[in-house]
Amino acid sequence: MKYINYSSVTIDKLKINKSQLPAIRSVAVRYPFLVSSSYAGLIQEPGDAIWRQCIPDVRELEDDGQLPDPLAEVSLSPVPGLIHRYPDRVVLLVSNRCPVYCRFCMRKRHVGCGDQPPDNERLEQAMAYIGATPAIRDVTLTGGDPLMLDDASLYDILTRLRAIAHVGIIRIGTRMPVTLPERVTPELCAMLKRFHPLYVNTHFNHPAEITAASTAACGLLANAGIQMGNQTVLLRGVNDDIATMRELMTGLLGIRVRPYYLHQMDLVKGTAHFRTPLASGLEIIKALRGHISGLGVPHYVIDLPGGKGKVPLLPDQFERDGDVVFLTTYRGERVAYRDITTPPA
Ligand SMILES: *Cc1c(COP(=O)(O)O)cnc(C)c1O
Ligand code: SF4
Repeated sequence: MKYINYSSVTIDKLKINKSQLPAIRSVAVRYPFLVSSSYAGLIQEPGDAIWRQCIPDVRELEDDGQLPDPLAEVSLSPVPGLIHRYPDRVVLLVSNRCPVYCRFCMRKRHVGCGDQPPDNERLEQAMAYIGATPAIRDVTLTGGDPLMLDDASLYDILTRLRAIAHVGIIRIGTRMPVTLPERVTPELCAMLKRFHPLYVNTHFNHPAEITAASTAACGLLANAGIQMGNQTVLLRGVNDDIATMRELMTGLLGIRVRPYYLHQMDLVKGTAHFRTPLASGLEIIKALRGHISGLGVPHYVIDLPGGKGKVPLLPDQFERDGDVVFLTTYRGERVAYRDITTPPA
């Protein structure tokens, strides 16, 4: 397996106030710092939504209350790098690198640590497990970012997966359309389309990430017949307001990407300063539902600690009075709906 090469910026190249440099460096020693030139180019000024996602913040070091792996991914791994939490699907970590190390990453414990791509032996073990477990119908490649592997390495992994008859769908979770859009080439898309049914879930967090380059990347993937979904992380000071989320979700539909999940921040050590109260996510969902295309409303989910899985949250779930339930419309109107408690004979 081999990683791609690309261009990144160093801390000195950022337009940072010199007095902040030592603090940023001290964080980068603990949690790696890396920003692709293309993503750095989106920064308009220190402290903006792009900056906050990629520039180290001293608060990362002050977070003592949270765990490196609250989702128990390591203990749910039957073989290293393969997470089997749900009966019919697994997540395969095929890279521990990304073009940008997002400060809020849920795999902060893993990304950027160790420079080597997964070796053949580890992949062999994962493929053997998937092959021997017929319940697995759905395999998600993730990491790090799987598209950090070069086309030949990806082709090899996808070919091995497709050789397993019970693997129905393959998903790739990648932030490349945002973090390194030039990685999405016509050659890559021509290769990926040989492995359908293939789904790509990408990761936009802010409307400023919808650019000519990210639009072109998503268009190439969509033109290869790939269903594009998006996972957004709800981040304090980045996207935790209604106007930003409406613009982001409708913007994504405009570039042929369908919002899939809005994630409540995981309780990952080093990321506490990004957390929002649940009320804030619920308010955002309420402000999306009915107000923008339903296609643009993601599921708001908490990935529960301990690896217990994702649970969706909905604002104003119903109240019941006997057979009558009361539901609240997007306008805030309370409407009675007659349920049946005993099904008709
Ligand atoms: C999120 C996740 C999946 C996929 O869940 P879906 O709800 O099907 O998208 C699978 N395995 C793990 C460990 C996950 O965290
Ligand atoms: S691209 Fe994804 S895996 Fe990589 S650092 Fe960002 S959030 Fe983490």
